[in-house]
Formats: sequence, structure tokens, C-alpha cells
Amino acid sequence: MHRGLKFFSERFFSGVLTYIAIACAAAALAQEPPRPATVTSEELKPGVHVLYGSGGGQAAGNVLVLFGDDGALVVDTGYPQYVPKYRDEVARLGGGAITHAINTHWHDDHSEGNKVLGPDGTLIIAHSNARTMLMRDNKINVVRTILEQPKFPPPALPVITFDDRIDVYFGEERLELMHVSPAHTASDVVVILRGSNVAHTGDVFLSSSYPFADVDNGGDFDGVIEFCRGILERIDRDTVIVPGHGRKATYADLESYIDMLVTVRGRTAALIADGATLAQVVAAEPTKEWDARYGNPTTFFLDRAYKSLRGSLSE
Ligand SMILES: [Zn+2]
Repeated sequence: MHRGLKFFSERFFSGVLTYIAIACAAAALAQEPPRPATVTSEELKPGVHVLYGSGGGQAAGNVLVLFGDDGALVVDTGYPQYVPKYRDEVARLGGGAITHAINTHWHDDHSEGNKVLGPDGTLIIAHSNARTMLMRDNKINVVRTILEQPKFPPPALPVITFDDRIDVYFGEERLELMHVSPAHTASDVVVILRGSNVAHTGDVFLSSSYPFADVDNGGDFDGVIEFCRGILERIDRDTVIVPGHGRKATYADLESYIDMLVTVRGRTAALIADGATLAQVVAAEPTKEWDARYGNPTTFFLDRAYKSLRGSLSE
């Protein structure tokens, strides 16, 4: 979700500024159309690539692709406008049709490509809560705005769901799909390729931004820490990690992310225990030493952390 939101808010504010500039100049210039969707790829292991999607008016989550004998499996499906680009890139890399897809969670930057893939016969797998959420109209409170995600049509829904864990066998690979706890959403899944030693974490872990806990839809700040620890226990120092957004990462990156979250959690919880308001938490700068690495903590991170922690501490 993160990158997409950041992109949206930046785009919104830059759009406003552009509008004002144009109005001041009294020039009736049309606003620039969004750049076309583009997809680039990076090989992680033989037959395993990550597809990075950008442009297209909406920033897609990272897509992991794995080649089998008779087709390709993707982890996450981006937005519909990216799907033709994913297919082109998979073909260019020597893979076949996308026969299987896994959604790491229900947010549309990771799942809306289902609307193209599902009707074309791709088998879609997700957590049971993801299917439930995709079957209804949702609102996502990203703090500076509310995003609306209408329900998906039936052919775009996952057809295999699970609650805790499931193994998927594809080509030579065993994929372990695991849900640890409510975290970014109540439907997060980490996908670990046991043979290739690659893991896609969805938005529970982001390599260059603070996490977003979708608190109004069952996400949980402490759950993000618990989920990240659960991933760490199931991988090793050689695992290549694909985060929901941002460049590929390492075990050490995830480890330091958890350390950051634990420290911020401790500081924020102590402030809440002293009766601090959100504004006082923000003023105390509990994330200060990490802002250069993860960006602006006031966009949504501290707001959602405050709401989640205040809720759990008062229970
Ligand atoms: Zn998300």
C-alpha cells in the first residue's frame, strides 16, 4: 500500500500546486497525463524474478514470478494496467502463461490484477480474510485521505484460501504460505520459496518506508512486529527478501526493521502511558534516527501506530 499512497498523496499535492501555478499564469494548460505503466525485472535466483511496476497512474506492489514447466506463478498481481506488461516481461524472460497467482493481502495494489488474470483462468490463492474483504466494498483510512476499494467481481476472487499455512507445489518448487497474525491487514501472507530460498513478505515489511497498519480494517501494530519475527524464524541469512514495495532486501534488513519497530513501539507506548496525545507523540520524534532511511513518519505511520497501540494498551 505504502508506495502507492505516498505516490498518490505526492501526486495530489503536486497536482494542487500545478493547478495553482497554472491558474496564476492564467494559462489553460491541460494537466500532464500519467506516465504509462512500465515494468522492470531483476533476477533473484535461476527462474525466479521480481517485477517492479511503476507509472500507470498507480504504483503497483512488487510481483515475484516463478517459472514452472507449463507456466508461471506470480506472487501479487499489481493493477490491471500492469498485467499485459507482466505478461510481456515474463515472456521476454522465457516464462509461459501466468497460470497461478497468490495475493499477499487484499489491498488493490497487490490484487487488482486479479480482474484480468482470474477471468483468463489463472488459479488465485489467498488468505481466507482476503477473499472476504475482496467480496465487499472497503474504505482504507490512510490518514491523509480515505481510499475506496469496491468489491471485486467473482472471477477475480481467490478460489483457494487458507487460515494459517498451506504448501503449494509448482514445478520444482515448494512454496510455504504462512499467516502469522493480523499485521498490515488481517489477511497478510508471507510466501517462502523453499527451494530457491526467496521470500515475498507483502506489505508487512517494506525496505524503504515505515509500515502501514490498516488499523480500521483489522491491521495491528504489534502484529507487524510479531509477523516480522515469524518470518525471520522461517528464513535464514541467505534468503532473498522481496518486500511489498521497494528494492529487494536481506535478513539483516528485516532484522534491523524489527529492531526499529520495537524501539519505536517502546517509546510510543511509554508516551501513551503518560497520557500523551498524538501531537505530543509526533513532537517527541520517536522515529528520529530512522527517518532518513524510511521517510516521513507523520504521513501515516505514527498516526496508525498511535491508534493501534492506544487501543491495545487500554484493553
Ligand atoms: Zn497493502
